[in-house]
Amino acid sequence: MKTLENRVALVTGSTSGIGLAMARRLAMAGAEVVMNGFGDPAEIDCLREEIAESAKTRVHFVPADLSKGAEAQMLVKQTLALCGRIDVLINNAGIQHVSSIPDFPDDKWDAVIAINLSSAFHTSKIALADMQKRGWGRIINVASAHGLVASINKSAYVASKHGIIGLTKVTALENAKTQITCNAICPGWVDTPLVRKQIEARAAAQGVSIDDATRQLVGEKQPSERFVSPEHLAELALFLTTEAGGSITGSAYTMDGGWTAQ
Ligand code: NAD
Repeated sequence: MKTLENRVALVTGSTSGIGLAMARRLAMAGAEVVMNGFGDPAEIDCLREEIAESAKTRVHFVPADLSKGAEAQMLVKQTLALCGRIDVLINNAGIQHVSSIPDFPDDKWDAVIAINLSSAFHTSKIALADMQKRGWGRIINVASAHGLVASINKSAYVASKHGIIGLTKVTALENAKTQITCNAICPGWVDTPLVRKQIEARAAAQGVSIDDATRQLVGEKQPSERFVSPEHLAELALFLTTEAGGSITGSAYTMDGGWTAQ
């Protein structure tokens, strides 16, 4: 069912992983989609065209470095200039850095907080002004199981993800009397480049194979011992954009194979 026909969706960090699956799913549901993220321009253009053709909808790419507040705000302004409106905003772009607090480089702390947390404030600020004019909108913040519980060596990531759940609640409350909702999605381990880097580092540090490092990493936290799939996360995001999702606001939805049930 094309539940998002005549709707415009912006998905940050949608050139890879979870964001890419979400952009594709929203396009298949009929939305005109604006993609964003880093990557090889030719590869991004192929992805954009492939999604547009298979979904039979318009798909754009707008570059922006979301570590910079002004670029995050400009991304939404350009979406409005291109498409005339914004109905669905998915704040998904994110990075990780793994290190204990005494060794954590200052610039990495700043980058993780800027991309994972502050960019969502900047995009939401501009998008909300447009959504409030029309009285309808859906903001989805991709947080993490690390928005609810902590792990060692991930101070900036855990702080940013706890922070974005707080931002989600405030956004929801400020708009509760309208048809604008804001929710967070909290994935467990998902097999994307962000996690591959951690698996490779673990394999190298412990002198084990990639398969063994993967099993250890996932099994340590996630009772299902299976990765969460980007496509399943995209279905959850799509549900939150529907009319049926209209009473859900200020929530943090886990899809984590039981991680935070422990
Ligand atoms: P990914 O590395 O596959 O994708 C990250 C995306 O963000 C890419 O499109 C990348 O180009 C973009 N990006 C990074 N820095 C950017 C910047 N400065 N400006 C603009 N775009 C930028 O990672 P993923 O696993 O798909 O992560 C997506 C989101 O899901 C992140 O917020 C991440 O924290 C969250 N998450 C991931 C997992 C997991 O296990 N993979 C678990 C929980 C939460």
